[in-house]
Amino acid sequence: MSADPHCIFCRIVAGQIPAKKVHEDDELLVFHDIHPWAPVHVLVIPKDHIASHADVGDAHAPLLGRMLALAPKLMRDLGVTNGFRTVINTGPDGGQEVHHLHMHVMGGPRPWVKG
Ligand code: AMP
Ligand code: ZN
Repeated sequence: MSADPHCIFCRIVAGQIPAKKVHEDDELLVFHDIHPWAPVHVLVIPKDHIASHADVGDAHAPLLGRMLALAPKLMRDLGVTNGFRTVINTGPDGGQEVHHLHMHVMGGPRPWVKG
């Protein structure tokens, strides 16, 4: 498993920075976004350091599948009953600010802050 000591999400995985965790398994960690856009806003990340969606290929298909497959259960467990949005920002033009692959999952009653 690779980690980047300068990466904020790797540091959350390592327990060096606190986060409000909602799910953890061998491969994935899920925690609340520190600046939520919606009443419920979590980030699903691989524990392994993958810098962005642009670095993903066929070998990552099971991991990406698990990230997507987890979202409905997360939202149900967090009380989201009326739909949700999943977003992956990739690279400069994609608006990616943290360079560790992450999937935003947002839900809850509108209006939202943005999104
Ligand atoms: P992106 O623009 O897709 O790279 O989004 C990065 C997200 O990470 C933003 O929504 C931030 O609010 C969130 N974020 C940054 N640092 C932390 C942190 N320490 N804990 C939780 N969320 C964070
Ligand atoms: Zn990382």
